[in-house]
Amino acid sequence: MESSSVVARHGKLRVQGNRIVDKNGKPVQLHGMSLFWSQWIGQYYNADAVNWLTNDWRCTVVRAALAVEPDGYLKNPAKEKQKIITVVDAAVDAGIYVIIDWHDHNAHQKTDAAVRFFGEMARRYGKLPNVIYEPYNEPLDKTSWSKEIKPYHEAVIREIRRYDPDNIIVCGTRTWSQRVDEASEDPIKFSNIAYTLHFYATTHRQSLRDMATTAMKNGVALMVTEFGTTEASGDGVIDYEETKKWWKFLDDNDISWCNWSVADKVEAAAALKPGASARGKWKEAEITASGKFVRDELRRKNPPTKIATKQR
Ligand code: MG
Repeated sequence: MESSSVVARHGKLRVQGNRIVDKNGKPVQLHGMSLFWSQWIGQYYNADAVNWLTNDWRCTVVRAALAVEPDGYLKNPAKEKQKIITVVDAAVDAGIYVIIDWHDHNAHQKTDAAVRFFGEMARRYGKLPNVIYEPYNEPLDKTSWSKEIKPYHEAVIREIRRYDPDNIIVCGTRTWSQRVDEASEDPIKFSNIAYTLHFYATTHRQSLRDMATTAMKNGVALMVTEFGTTEASGDGVIDYEETKKWWKFLDDNDISWCNWSVADKVEAAAALKPGASARGKWKEAEITASGKFVRDELRRKNPPTKIATKQR
């Protein structure tokens, strides 16, 4: 049964020009869900939830969002790291890809902590095709790409590459990971580097898609490690039509995506309703409007897989 998993089919991913390609050199587009800040909604960081996201939602990737601060990894390193390890191990067992996300808006101010963390993750997981590293969720608007964000990425990448020569590293860009065009004009000189593009459909529209097109024309590969169907706040109105425009754009350009987020928070972008089971098996009544919309698209896009999940 393992042979039907997405990782069995596509294997080790790499960046070729402005595309992410699979073991056969063919462009690959992954679709999945991001978990929420690990310190605030950590109950979904378990194998049952990951298995449900794989088999029922048909995610081919999940994103584990290591909350750095407040009250995150810097304060409780062992506790928050264990949540990430649990999700990565579950994703590996389920045969899907998994993004290890340093979920932070000021990562360049604590480079040493990120370097140590990603070095450890690379030693632990660098031989597996499943793992994708994301060293900097969303740098702020005021942070310089060339002077702050890029040097930070280079420090983390150098450490990852000591242990893992090849897995993809998706690098966050300025303005909450929107300025992929700017990054493409001063790209990072390592192999298998992609750039993070985030959008919230009610807020970010054609002008952001145009920046993405510019970046691809400049030769870099993109990955949407997080998007919302809502306003940039994660709340407010869902824009179904604009989300569909984005999905079409991402399909046309083989860009992978993860939806924000697997959370039962009271906000429009959350996929689950308050109190939804921590262990998956969510019924209709536990899924929000955004969650249903995204789940339908995931199930439309991805064939069913039946994975014989291991128990740890
Ligand atoms: Mg590797």
